[in-house]
Amino acid sequence: MAGIYIHVPFCSKRCTYCDFFSSTNMQNKETYVDSVVKELELRKEYLSGEGIGTIYFGGGTPSQLDIRAFERIFETISRLYQIDDDAEITLEANPDDMTPGYVEGIATLPFNRVSMGVQSFKDEDLHFLNRRHDSRQAFKAIALCKENGFTNLSIDLIYGLPGQSMEDWQFNLAEAIRLDIPHLSSYHLIYEEGTPLFRQLHAGKVKPVMEELSVAMFTELIDTLADAGYEQYEISNFAKNKLYSRHNSSYWKGIKYLGVGPSAHSFDGKTRQWNVSSMTKYFKGIAAGLPDVEMEELDTKTSYNDFIITGLRTMWGVDLHELQKLYGEELLTYCMKQAAPHLKNGLLVNADSVLKLTRQGIFISDGIMSDLLYV
Ligand code: SF4
Repeated sequence: MAGIYIHVPFCSKRCTYCDFFSSTNMQNKETYVDSVVKELELRKEYLSGEGIGTIYFGGGTPSQLDIRAFERIFETISRLYQIDDDAEITLEANPDDMTPGYVEGIATLPFNRVSMGVQSFKDEDLHFLNRRHDSRQAFKAIALCKENGFTNLSIDLIYGLPGQSMEDWQFNLAEAIRLDIPHLSSYHLIYEEGTPLFRQLHAGKVKPVMEELSVAMFTELIDTLADAGYEQYEISNFAKNKLYSRHNSSYWKGIKYLGVGPSAHSFDGKTRQWNVSSMTKYFKGIAAGLPDVEMEELDTKTSYNDFIITGLRTMWGVDLHELQKLYGEELLTYCMKQAAPHLKNGLLVNADSVLKLTRQGIFISDGIMSDLLYV
């Protein structure tokens, strides 16, 4: 089963830390929907007859699209593909878009999962990040989703904000648990180059949190959620009752997916492709019947490196038999040689021929992964 990702590149206001491709110009929405429908048609052979197990509307802010826009996109997907009866169909949403009428509307569509960019339940954090919503809207949006039958809910929470205390972070985690949200994605604030936040940092206007507090917050995240019955199935993703994000898990498991919309990425098992990150160029390419796409053929080395990174990030780990089957004896030997010091130091474990990060290893996962890469 393959996946389809639709990138919805509209945000009514830009958050200061974000480097995703999106625009605050809403005038192009209609052209955008026409183009997505046409791109789905143009690239219908990309997944070569595979059934669809997951559909994910990400952004940007997908909840900036109206119900009719989704209907048109779903009609196109259903006409072109065989969608699995049990498919996971996710809408990423911003809390302030989730009005009673809108949530009722999306409940009539094939969506069965909502992932909400809550980020924090504290207004001062949301204000600092230049988010559009406040905590009251976040609580209300979650309640509305539940009332309308969305039980498979996910929220994003950010930690490591300047001025955020451990108590603030504990409050956010406690609220997520109290609200019985079955899936959480939680990331440390990153100062991405080119963002307003990055400029504020370099102008000395914000002070990053101390390293020790960052580590303590990550520890708090892991321990608090484990105590509340969540599995850390990926470094930054936690789920209760096995409600893992099947769409995101398919990225980590090397499953094929088609990405539609400006800046969307695709993977067909042999190549990676990415659409142009420009609304104008995207519209132009689609109108001409020639999507503006760049492509990279994955050689054995790159493919092995992806296999290591995506495997180690998850609780499913790197299957060494699979590694040998896909990349041969030589790369298996290389992997084990590079892994040896980390196995000895307790940062990696080899459990029934599956290589996994230990709890200690999770804290320095980037370094461990880079040691195992073939360069
Ligand atoms: S709403 Fe999401 S995509 Fe839009 S600017 Fe904020 S973080 Fe970025």
